[in-house]
Amino acid sequence: MASHLVSLIFWSLVAAGAAWWYGGWTAALAMVALVSWGWVLQQLWRAHRLEVWLRAGQVANQPVLKGLWRDLADRMRRLLQQRDQQVQVHADRLQHFLQAIQASPNGVTLLDKEGRIEWCNDTAALHLGIDSHRDHLQHVVHMVRDPVFSRYFTQDKHDGEVVIEGRSPTLTKSVKLSVQLHRYGDGQQLLLTRDITAVHQAEIMRRDFVANVSHEIRTPLTVLSGFVETLQSLPLDPDEQHHFLDLMAVQASRMQTLVSDLLILSQLEGSPLPGKGEPVALAPLTLQVRDDALALSALQDPESTGPVHTLVLEPVPDWCLSGSRNELLSAMSNLANNAVRYTPAGGTIRIAWSRTEDDQVVFSVKDTGPGIAPEHLPRLSERFYRVDRSRSRETGGTGLGLAITKHVVQRHGGQLRIDSEPGRGSTFMLSFPASRLVAKSL
Ligand code: ADP
Repeated sequence: MASHLVSLIFWSLVAAGAAWWYGGWTAALAMVALVSWGWVLQQLWRAHRLEVWLRAGQVANQPVLKGLWRDLADRMRRLLQQRDQQVQVHADRLQHFLQAIQASPNGVTLLDKEGRIEWCNDTAALHLGIDSHRDHLQHVVHMVRDPVFSRYFTQDKHDGEVVIEGRSPTLTKSVKLSVQLHRYGDGQQLLLTRDITAVHQAEIMRRDFVANVSHEIRTPLTVLSGFVETLQSLPLDPDEQHHFLDLMAVQASRMQTLVSDLLILSQLEGSPLPGKGEPVALAPLTLQVRDDALALSALQDPESTGPVHTLVLEPVPDWCLSGSRNELLSAMSNLANNAVRYTPAGGTIRIAWSRTEDDQVVFSVKDTGPGIAPEHLPRLSERFYRVDRSRSRETGGTGLGLAITKHVVQRHGGQLRIDSEPGRGSTFMLSFPASRLVAKSL
């Protein structure tokens, strides 16, 4: 700055000196006034260019100036560049933060002091059926039209969470949301939403399961205690006593089977997946399943001395499947035993192993029984689901056999498939990926 002034004064004096030489003091004063005006105009023009540049806000297009103005412009450019860098850092940080909230599996909605939507992540938009752009600054109570939420929102304190009905992508599926409000900053609120549909359904299933188990146990228990009372209160002859004790034994065995099936289920749920290293030879396993089914068939008619069904066992390939022998035996027996129990005497049951074109190894049990209507098929493997409750009970069923079977086959990477039609019999299949076939055990 000082050097610019010194040079201005120096050149003014030189010009004034030259003017004095040619025209005297008046010319010298006129020259000083002229140089000063010229200098002022030049500075105004440079200030104007600087202002235009600053107004345009394009730091890179710095005007070419001279002297003091160039220094000023350079300094301003550096300051502006620093400011831009800082703004960029803050913008990046904000973006990063928003991306993190966006990635959250839970819904996050930011509300202003009045409860209007300022921002929400995609999950919240999905949960609450809102559009973060369209519904910007809409009041959240107008968007989430649920009386439970409206009441919760108007409370002074939001200690706990409430459960509301969420927006469902399909009309048939109901969505349960857990919703919680938290205050932050200067009266703003954070609305957190969590999809708890699965937890809710698991809770309903747990309740149904407990109710079903209690019901299943209570029935034989009531019958048993009735017989006990009869034995205690009536003078019965030995034959009658024997008869009652036989009936009691049937009920006790029903309860035993139920408890044992429940234990198997809970073990399946709690134990680690069967390792891939244990080769289970299928031929002896299938023979055992066939023999057990024959023995069960013989019990179907007390008058008969042998099996009442024709059991055909197709030649079993010399294969080994990796998995748990006991689990596989229980799944295969369940299918064969069901075929025996639900197929009337005289029917035919065909047991086979095959390999399909899509590289599946399939165990199938085909019967000539009554068949099953299509509406029951998807529910057959639910716990305690039965098509014909009395037929299941009569034959000692617990309603858990197919649930266990499905569990076992899934634990072995396979699936349970059912092909059935009323009047045309049923085929139950366990299909495993062929990758589970292993070399024969030594
Ligand atoms: P349950 O102990 O009642 O047999 P499952 O889970 O083994 O229970 O089977 C569920 C229901 O599926 C049975 O109650 C029965 O209605 C039906 N079902 C199973 N296997 C057959 C079959 N081979 N033929 C006809 N119905 C069957």
